[in-house]
Amino acid sequence: MSSEPYKHYIDGEWVEGTGTETFTSENPANGETLGEFQRGTEDDVDEAIAAADEAFEEWRELSQIDRAEYLWDIYQELKDRHEELGEVVTKECGKEISEGKADVTEAWHMVEWAAGDARHPKGDVVPSEIPAKDAYMRRKPRGVIGCVTPWNFPVAIPFWHMAVSLVEGNTVVWKPAEQTPWCGQIIAEMFEDSGIPDGVFNMVQGFGDAGAAITDDGRIDTVLFTGSAEVGHEIASKVGGEPGKLAAAEMGGKNNIVITEEADLDIAVHSATMSSFKTTGQRCVSSERIVVHEDVYDEFKQRFVENAQNVAVGDPLDENTFMGPLIEEEHKAKVSNYNQLAKDEGVNVLVDREELGAEEIPEGHEDGHWVGPFVYEADPHEDLRCTHEEVFGPHVALLKYSGDIEDAVEIHNDTEYGLAGAIISEDYRQINYFRDHAEVGLAYGNLPCIGAEVQLPFGGVKKSGNGYPSAREVIEAVTERTAWTLNNSKEIE
Ligand code: NAD
Repeated sequence: MSSEPYKHYIDGEWVEGTGTETFTSENPANGETLGEFQRGTEDDVDEAIAAADEAFEEWRELSQIDRAEYLWDIYQELKDRHEELGEVVTKECGKEISEGKADVTEAWHMVEWAAGDARHPKGDVVPSEIPAKDAYMRRKPRGVIGCVTPWNFPVAIPFWHMAVSLVEGNTVVWKPAEQTPWCGQIIAEMFEDSGIPDGVFNMVQGFGDAGAAITDDGRIDTVLFTGSAEVGHEIASKVGGEPGKLAAAEMGGKNNIVITEEADLDIAVHSATMSSFKTTGQRCVSSERIVVHEDVYDEFKQRFVENAQNVAVGDPLDENTFMGPLIEEEHKAKVSNYNQLAKDEGVNVLVDREELGAEEIPEGHEDGHWVGPFVYEADPHEDLRCTHEEVFGPHVALLKYSGDIEDAVEIHNDTEYGLAGAIISEDYRQINYFRDHAEVGLAYGNLPCIGAEVQLPFGGVKKSGNGYPSAREVIEAVTERTAWTLNNSKEIE
């Protein structure tokens, strides 16, 4: 850890910035201070955007294959520093160590996709009504991309935003989440090491006010935001009023797993346990609603409850841990309030490990933000807040249904969100019905509702997204399409 506060990276330089405040990154498992960082201001953001704006004109003139060369260097560094960076992810956001490393793996998959894609054809050659005319759809970079990212995938999501943006010829200004600035620092070091031209990549550390300074600035051509629905919709509606500017917002979910009477219960129990409790329920795709057919309900409930009672909560650096801590004390209070709300709303509580016993908390980790699973049964047709609002923790409702797959999907779709959903069934008709009617951007069959692959779009519908998915599909938000037509004959039309 440096004795000086870590700096912003603007126009190819490490700069202190204009602010007088610093903030610290803390390990959510034990309260240890991991580093001190400069808190970015509007003026720092202004400087970063000016640098990105100026760098754009030269950067866009390079071939995309040349631009991708810088990304290949970063790809290699992500691989070389896999263990180290995976551990930083775990220390900074509390995910258990295999998930910390997986975050880094997902980042290099995205960089590999974007850099590899630089050698693939882009755009379309299309037929024209006039024989001597060539017609193409071509892509052009939009300009300066403002990236604002959450803490729960502190390495993967920034690369989902930035890798394709840069290869396509845009420049970027990025603000990492305030909970994970150390990951931000290391990523900026990787860009510095790659030798990418000054001003093409800029990073300002800080909080929501620095994020807003990015998203509100008129020189930003596209905002890429991933985070809560509350902030995302505010940004998207502000940006929507500005001609020529675009916002792609990826937000939260209240995700379901549907378990039908035809389900393989081993797959069902495993999928629900993974989806509900991995990352301590703090994934945008975590499932907080398990919709189970009455014929298999009792057996599923007994096995899932047993898992919830036994999942190992503890030091995320220990390979035997299943669930680490929550990210911060404020979030712990939010999860606890939702657990209490569920009780107040009259649900039947099955597992309440909110307050872990002293013997469950690892030695030296008393200051961690610990909670265990909270599982209850509720009526799927009652309009309860606890079964409809995103909690973002290990807070899970079992919702029993009777009838056919149509009834299950009706319950599944009964939230404002539409991010991710899974079906567990051995019946292809049920699976196909779910695929076609579940109101989600990410649908899984016989799988936990948690995976992401960069060669697929990643995004939600309804309140979870605004029509611009992330990962490979970010190209739609960071490029403009030109319809280009060329007359190859001497004839005047
Ligand atoms: P958050 O919305 O609180 O913060 C996200 C980022 O936005 C942070 O960098 C924050 O500093 C910044 N920010 C806050 N206020 C801002 C403002 N007014 N203007 C501009 N920027 C601002 O979210 P979080 O707590 O970091 O992340 C958790 C949320 O993210 C959950 O709801 C989760 O479901 C969602 N999420 C969604 C996806 C997805 O791909 N759909 C992925 C991961 C997380």
